[in-house]
Amino acid sequence: MDKLTQQYVDGIMSGVIARNPGEKEFHQAVREVVESVSDYITASPHLMKLKIMERMVEPERVVMFRVPWMDDHGEIHVNRGYRVQMNSAIGPYKGGIRFHESVNLSIMKFLAFEQTFKNSLTTLPMGGAKGGSDFSPKGRSDAEVMRFCQSFMTELQRHIGQDRDVPAGDIGVGGREIGYLFGQYKRLQDEFSGTLTGKGLGWGGSLLRPEATGYGLCYFTEQMLATRGDSFKGKTVLVSGAGNVAQYTAKKAMELGAKVVTLSDSNGFIHDPDGLDEEKWQYVYELKNYRRGRIKEYADRFRHAVYYPNQRPWGIPCDIALPCATQNEIEKEDAEKLVSGGCRCVAEGANMPSTPEAIRIFQSNGLLYAPGKASNAGGVATSGLEMTQNSIRQKWTAEEVDSHLRRIMSDIHAACLKYGTGFDGTVNYVKGANVAGFIKVADAMVDQGLV
Ligand code: NDP
Repeated sequence: MDKLTQQYVDGIMSGVIARNPGEKEFHQAVREVVESVSDYITASPHLMKLKIMERMVEPERVVMFRVPWMDDHGEIHVNRGYRVQMNSAIGPYKGGIRFHESVNLSIMKFLAFEQTFKNSLTTLPMGGAKGGSDFSPKGRSDAEVMRFCQSFMTELQRHIGQDRDVPAGDIGVGGREIGYLFGQYKRLQDEFSGTLTGKGLGWGGSLLRPEATGYGLCYFTEQMLATRGDSFKGKTVLVSGAGNVAQYTAKKAMELGAKVVTLSDSNGFIHDPDGLDEEKWQYVYELKNYRRGRIKEYADRFRHAVYYPNQRPWGIPCDIALPCATQNEIEKEDAEKLVSGGCRCVAEGANMPSTPEAIRIFQSNGLLYAPGKASNAGGVATSGLEMTQNSIRQKWTAEEVDSHLRRIMSDIHAACLKYGTGFDGTVNYVKGANVAGFIKVADAMVDQGLV
């Protein structure tokens, strides 16, 4: 990085750190983008003059609100709700809602910032946003989750709409929660619209939306492997998480001929040296989506599978690692273990699961490495397809949605190659994704004036 570019990065970062003290996840996400796009910006005087990056790192709007609700025993709880509307230059705000005890403003801002570039990469007209609450649905009854969702939506409904801001699911928000949120939105607004995505198939949802993030991740990974004449066939794959993204990542990787040997949750991971098969996958699906149990139970049920409490799966030898749980779940030591265990490709299903130190280790050891904003964009892309189907009042077949999803993932991969291929032919997917995502949003902001 030359001196001017370094000064530019330092200037942006010191402003962000001063204005958002203590928000380490937000700083981390901004730094990654700014470092990637700084030479493009410093070579474009109009972007410097118009302070495009200074404007991008300031959310257009942040809403924080009280969410009071009552549990089944009559006790009152107070949670905090958030919606960060980061950027609407290329379309209505779009991004998921996360219900997890760890949710705070820093995590909401990092996710909304990432979402802006991810949505731009999908080629669809969607701005960037994220929302959520420090409420955890784990261990709560359906009635408690419903009361919480209704209270949350009672405030959120003022700020969203099909042409304004379209939320979806994320950690802790699946089909059940989207149903309760949609029901309350419809009741308060007195309209049936496509304001939320991830809806049930009988009431406006798109076929393949639940599968989309995981399937899209595997389509993207296939393309990465193909750049080295390789494929999923016969490969040993580590998947972390056991939720929506992990489940469909495991399913598609298996379909493509890989052996998936791990899954995890926030208490630990299972290693199944025999690999998952259809029966085992169905067991996990029911365990996590209906019985709402822990991944530990997998090891009690299937021979040869071992449960490792309070550990992550990255020490198991593998060819490919697909982290699908949460941010910063691969730290430096985990990355070192992956490299020494033979891993050749890491593609992120989760958002920002690898720390900056881990990414440096992947890149310096020549692994194929893709950041979530490129490799997990299939979820929001299919949410975009759900919005289209709602607007035209039609429902596409699974084959139609899948072919759109494959094309979009392939276009994102091509954009990463276009902006991320170095003089020596190696591909820096971080740079490629960030520059490609940035250019479209920046150009729109230039066109729309100082707003
Ligand atoms: P789910 O709630 O369905 O599953 C999350 C999984 O990750 C669970 O197994 C959960 O375990 C585990 N997990 C959550 N927090 C932690 C933690 N702090 N430490 C260890 N494990 C944890 O969420 P999704 O599958 O939807 O989301 C997973 C990731 O993918 C997130 O980073 C999300 O932002 C990202 N993503 C999701 C998209 C989607 O379409 N759903 C789209 C793009 C990205 P436990 O059950 O114990 O909490």
